[in-house]
Formats: sequence, structure tokens, C-alpha cells
Amino acid sequence: TTTTTTKRVLLFPFMAQGHLIPFSQLAHLISLRNNHSVTLVNTPSNILTLRSILPSSSTVRLSSLPFNPSDHGLPPGQESTDSLPFHLFFPLFLSTESLRPAFTRFVSDALSSDPTSPLSIIADPFLGWTVDVAKDLGVFHAFFLTSGAWGSAVFLSLWTHHPLPWSDSDDLALPNRPNVRLRRSQVTPLLLHGDDDDNPEFAFFHRQIAQFCKSDGVIVNTAEGFERSGVEFLKEESGGMPVWAVGPLLRVPSTPLSDDTHIGWLAGHPPASVLYVSFGSMNTISASQMVELAMGLEASGTAFVWVIRPPIGFDFKVGFREEWLPEGFEERMREQNRGVLIHGWAPQMEILSHASTGAFLSHCGWNSVLESLCNGVPIVGWPIAGEQFYNSTMMVEEIGVCVEIARGNGNESVVCREDVERIVRSVMMGGEGEEMRRKAREVGEVLRAAVGEGGASVRAMDDFLRTALSTMAGKD
Ligand code: UDP
Repeated sequence: TTTTTTKRVLLFPFMAQGHLIPFSQLAHLISLRNNHSVTLVNTPSNILTLRSILPSSSTVRLSSLPFNPSDHGLPPGQESTDSLPFHLFFPLFLSTESLRPAFTRFVSDALSSDPTSPLSIIADPFLGWTVDVAKDLGVFHAFFLTSGAWGSAVFLSLWTHHPLPWSDSDDLALPNRPNVRLRRSQVTPLLLHGDDDDNPEFAFFHRQIAQFCKSDGVIVNTAEGFERSGVEFLKEESGGMPVWAVGPLLRVPSTPLSDDTHIGWLAGHPPASVLYVSFGSMNTISASQMVELAMGLEASGTAFVWVIRPPIGFDFKVGFREEWLPEGFEERMREQNRGVLIHGWAPQMEILSHASTGAFLSHCGWNSVLESLCNGVPIVGWPIAGEQFYNSTMMVEEIGVCVEIARGNGNESVVCREDVERIVRSVMMGGEGEEMRRKAREVGEVLRAAVGEGGASVRAMDDFLRTALSTMAGKD
């Protein structure tokens, strides 16, 4: 006879849109399986965000841990990277460690309230300390990587081999992968300068990453058939832990948006003729880069939708100032029906799935990459931080669906309007762009098949759930 024991899964994402979205999707997918009870745990304001991301019919439970933002120098109700200015990101990261006692109590109460039903924890790698909670309570633990396999593996490798053996030259071979070469501009400043545990920011990430290989396994938001060498590299970096590629897990658009003005604007343009421009939910470029981008877009003659945020150094809550753009730019573009600026949150999934969208100028955040490629839309890469640099390189060199236009938003990365014009033209109007679109459509098919019936990612998810919930306790 089959058992009807309820199997419980607790998921705990880091507080950033790019993490909350795939975690919600993973939670929802698991909750659709028979006899699985799924709970997302987070701080109060992020619980509200998670509720708005989940489909309204979802049975995923939401549980708030007590958290007072002002204890950590954060403004009231602002506990996520998309509502905080950049200089408060680190206090937010640091504040997550204070959640440990409340999370421990939450898990141990769940265990004592129903000792017979298996429970497992899926947590964000930025919450490395959750491994210790799981070990102390004898519960299975896995990390869910919301970035890709290749980017995550390079990132882990950089931390593992810190300090890196830079010579005077500007580039470096990864110690354990000599054929992977990186430039200084592709490495987070923390790993270039923050060479010691006296730097609290360096020490924080060091603490979390040291926990990585203590977990029972790794789930990653990618498809094996899409990132074959990435998954292999991630397995190496994970020190023999099982790796389950269960993606792409994407947000399902919850409301029909046909009356959205931007979607309406797109509909008035020919197929694959509009460039969508966005740097994600937390990154932004410098004021001078913004002007060069605007001038280059204008000169290219391409139609565009640009999700625009104040340049670095400005709180994005202050509102937008015209002086950040070339004089009369927004009005001129609107009058010529050439381009629209979205101030605020864009319906990105809907824009990328629209037939008029022909390419995506993106910071190469992993969710953006997956959303673009699943829709067969090639990428003009402008990576800014973290593992975005490696996502971009991998898509340029290995998959052929991306061309890099710029790198970084610091003073040292100069972007000129002529380059923007030339690259945008070649992707939107030239043969190079046609070839990239053909490849992006092929990759899109691979990605969609992986999460379709009987696909490799669905089978990986089955395998993960069997492993995670077949025993009451994880490994010692
Ligand atoms: N997003 C959106 N509208 C916006 C900005 C972002 O819907 O105006 C969504 C985007 O579709 C993606 C997520 O927010 O799902 C951003 O994640 P990503 O990994 O691309 O970048 P991050 O913001 O984490 O740097």
C-alpha cells in the first residue's frame, strides 16, 4: 500500500526579486505534487511580496519570522534589495544572520508538532548558516542556486581559491580551470581588495560560502541540456554533493496584461524590431553611461523600451530627473514613436514574450537570461556585478546567443555612443542578429523541453524530492 504521509518542504530565499521569484516558483511546483506541504519562510514585508508573486490559487503556506528592520539600520518595511538603496544592501545581508534563532525555533516546532512526517529545508546560499540549523535538528538540507550553473561554479571557484594569483597583467586563469580566463573587470571588488576577515563584508560572504559544501545537495535553476559544461563544473565545485538541475523555473504571469500601455505600444511595431533594455531589479549604470546609451540608441534608429532607473549614486526613490538624459530625449523618442521609457517596474515576462521584441540589452542577471532565451530572444550583454560577467561570457563563447556591449558601471568602464549604435544595429538589423535569434530559438526549445512532460529537469526534481524526503535525517 502507498503511504499518505505528508512530506514537508520549507523554503527560505534571500530577500531580492531575483531570488524570491524562482523560489516561489520552486515552492509552487513542489506544492502541486500529491501529499507535499510547502512553506515559504521570510521576513514580514517579503512574505507580502511572495504572496503577490505566487499564483492566487497556490496552496504554498507563507510564514513570517519576527524581524525589525530598524534593529539593522534599515528603513521600516524595507527588507529587500529592490526597495533599498545600494549602500544598505550590506546591512540587509548582515541582518539575515539575526534570523537564525527564530528559524531554528520554527523548524523545531514543526518537527515536534508532527514527528512522523518528513521535513526538508531548501535555502538560499546567502543564508549559509541554515545548514547548521538543519544538521543540529537532523533535517535534510539543500541549497537552491537562483543563478546558473556556470556562473555559480566560477563564483565558487573564485572564493575557494582566494587570494587569486594575479600577476601584473590584467587577466588570470582560474586555478582549477586554466582554460577559463578572467579579467579584473569581471571580478567583484570584494575579491580583489577585501583580502581579509577584518572587512565585515568580505567576512560575511566568506562565512556563507564556507557552508556551501556542508549541505546535502544543490538544486540549480538551469537545464542540463542547456548548460552541460556548467553543470559539470558545478558538480566539481560542490565537492561531490548531488546537483539537481531543475530549471528553467520562471514566474508565470498572473494577470492578463493586454491593456498595459507598454504592451500596447509594442504591438504597434513589426515582429522582432524592438530592443528591450533593463538592468534588473537592483543594478543601475552611471550618469555618463546613461547618456552614451541614450545617444547610441537614438543614433541606431532602432525602436526600444527602456526600463530606466536613476544612475548610481542616486536613491531611486527620489524620482527621475530629465538632466540624467540628453536634452529632450524622452519626449523626442515618444513623439517619433521610437522609444518608451518605463519608470518603475516593467512587465518583463510579457515584454520578452511579445513578438515585437527582437533582443534584450540586459545586465545578464540569471532570471533575465532564462526569461529571454525561453522566448527565443538573444541578448546584448552589459554585465554589472557578481556572476553576471560569467553568464555573459558563457552565452557569448559557448552558446552564441549574446554579444557583449559593455562591462561594469564603475568609472573605469567607458562606454561610447558609437559602439552602442554599431552593436545595436548589427543585432537588430544585421545578419549577426538573425543568426543569434535563430540560436536563441533553438536554445528556447531545449529549455522548454527540459521542464515539459518527461523532461530532464522534471526528472531531476522527482529525484531530488525522493532523496530529500526519503529519510528523516540528512547525512551526518
Ligand atoms: N523584473 C521585472 N520587472 C522589472 C525588473 C525586473 O519583472 O522592471 C523581474 C525580471 O523579470 C526577473 C527579476 O525581476 O524575473 C530580476 O532577476 P534577475 O536575475 O534578472 O536580476 P536581478 O534583479 O536579480 O539582478
